Amino acid sequence: MDKTDVVIIGCGIAGATAALRLAQNPDRHILVLTRHADPLESNTRYAQGGIVSRGEDDTADCLYNDIIAAGAGASFPKTARILAEEGPDLLQKLLVETAGVTFDSAPDGRPFFGQEAAHSRRRILHVGDGTGLAIIQGLLAAMARFPNITLETNLTAVDLITFPHHSRDPLRTYQPIACYGVYAFHRKERTLHRYLAAATILATGGLGRIYRNTTNPPGARGDGLAMAHRAGARIINAEYVQFHPTALAAPGAEGFLISEAVRGEGAVLLTPEGRPFMADYSPEWKDLAPRDVVARAIHHQMEAHGYSHVLLDLATHMDADAIRARFPNIYAKCLSAGIDITREPIPVVPAAHYFCGGVAVDEWGLSSIQNLYALGEISCTGVHGANRLASTSLLEGLVWGDRAGRHIEALLSCQSPANLAASVPSFDEVPPWDESGLVADADSALIQGDMQTIQNIMWHYVGLARNTERLLRAIRELRHLWNEIETFYQTTKLSDGLIGLRNAVEVALIVAESALHNRQSRGCHFREDAGIAEGERLI
Ligand SMILES: Cc1cc2nc3c(=O)[nH]c(=O)nc-3n(C[C@H](O)[C@H](O)[C@H](O)COP(=O)(O)OP(=O)(O)OC[C@H]3O[C@@H](n4cnc5c(N)ncnc54)[C@H](O)[C@@H]3O)c2cc1C
Repeated sequence: MDKTDVVIIGCGIAGATAALRLAQNPDRHILVLTRHADPLESNTRYAQGGIVSRGEDDTADCLYNDIIAAGAGASFPKTARILAEEGPDLLQKLLVETAGVTFDSAPDGRPFFGQEAAHSRRRILHVGDGTGLAIIQGLLAAMARFPNITLETNLTAVDLITFPHHSRDPLRTYQPIACYGVYAFHRKERTLHRYLAAATILATGGLGRIYRNTTNPPGARGDGLAMAHRAGARIINAEYVQFHPTALAAPGAEGFLISEAVRGEGAVLLTPEGRPFMADYSPEWKDLAPRDVVARAIHHQMEAHGYSHVLLDLATHMDADAIRARFPNIYAKCLSAGIDITREPIPVVPAAHYFCGGVAVDEWGLSSIQNLYALGEISCTGVHGANRLASTSLLEGLVWGDRAGRHIEALLSCQSPANLAASVPSFDEVPPWDESGLVADADSALIQGDMQTIQNIMWHYVGLARNTERLLRAIRELRHLWNEIETFYQTTKLSDGLIGLRNAVEVALIVAESALHNRQSRGCHFREDAGIAEGERLI
């Protein structure tokens, strides 16, 4: 199916939710693409701690206030309010009733709400510490029940099809930019396809992999952000990259996330000598301070004292059986790395975790480009401001996936089938991808080497603590690399790795340039050499 009503790029929680909402209309045809062979593979799959719901003594106002407080003054009140008000009911309807996700409950049958940092209430629903996997399995199973959803795997989106850029009509230049689908590369067949659609949704997830230390899986390389940027979409808040305080620092298991829920259940951060240190940085919240504060505190301890990691002690604060029941995956993963978390502390370091910025969208997920929507981690609704409140990203994917689905349906259903078909360009109007003359296959050593260079630049110069000198150095080196990679890209046959490398250097530059331009420390953007925003936290 190369021409459809809606093409959705990505099938994590955001893309899957949009597909399910659109599929309610049996006449609507929805094509969902993912670059992985396994549709489960996404950031969603790895979410551990859970998803925000409404706790027992909780209200929408209360959640709204926590989001605003964590966002360090930069959360957009309108969208934070939407999330707080719509999220919990939608969770119940879509995840529990439609997708059949069974969240953990207490022995009396009531939901077992977890606690996480900077939440003033226990309100996190979870499925052990494998919440994301349970959610995406449920959503994919629900999608399979709709014959009007086609899910295609092994397809890497390369570039958006936008007019005037891809139009053969010179007069199209005088109209606003509009999106009509995507060029995608079939990883197995090594062929390029045009998918044309009345509406296009980018739901490609985050960009953690542009950093050396990250909790994100290999697919999180910012593909959608780079595509949107090349197409001319507005991008905002790109300097706000959230670093998770606690990724496992054990050989062979680097980057594995030790969920915030572990501190929510009482675990305490210690120096390697065994001294608790969070009270020095946040006397009020201590180990449950907002993520940026905890991550910078660890970074500060590591830099000041030359530690390679700090320790997270759960064993002293939770019974061994309770640890195994509440955190089965973390327990098993640490044990496989030789650490028994029921008996000893866990070595941890901070790692790039979540992208708070992204493609600027409105309350319906619509970007600055006509017909182009962006949802989930790739988008910036403004909810997370300068620092995301734990466990709100899954909920944001759900809420905006549903909203975009409703918005697109309202627009498409106004049109007669004939008008709708005519609104999508024909294949004659959109040039096919041209690879003629390219014979060289991409050299994987170059791809790997360049990727590692990007990751090192981002980690050292655009990391937890930034200053003008580091950022300027990063930008100079990334620009040089961008030129090299662009030449490489223009002269080499396509591959998934090459597409990802080109995108990674593009988004690395976007983040570094935003970080340079924002001279004010706020939330997860910390400038050592600039003013601190009013009311902002210092360490
Ligand atoms: C280890 C870890 C733990 C987390 N824990 C939590 C938590 O407890 N609670 C919480 O709320 N959030 C958590 N998060 C964040 C949350 O998981 C993500 O923000 C969220 O799942 C993003 O969903 P998404 O649908 O936007 O993207 P994803 O789930 O990442 O899905 C992206 C999709 O796009 C596809 N894709 C990407 N590029 C292309 C391309 N070029 N062409 C075609 N397809 C493409 C991918 O294959 C995938 O299908 C965690 C994240 C990580 C990494």
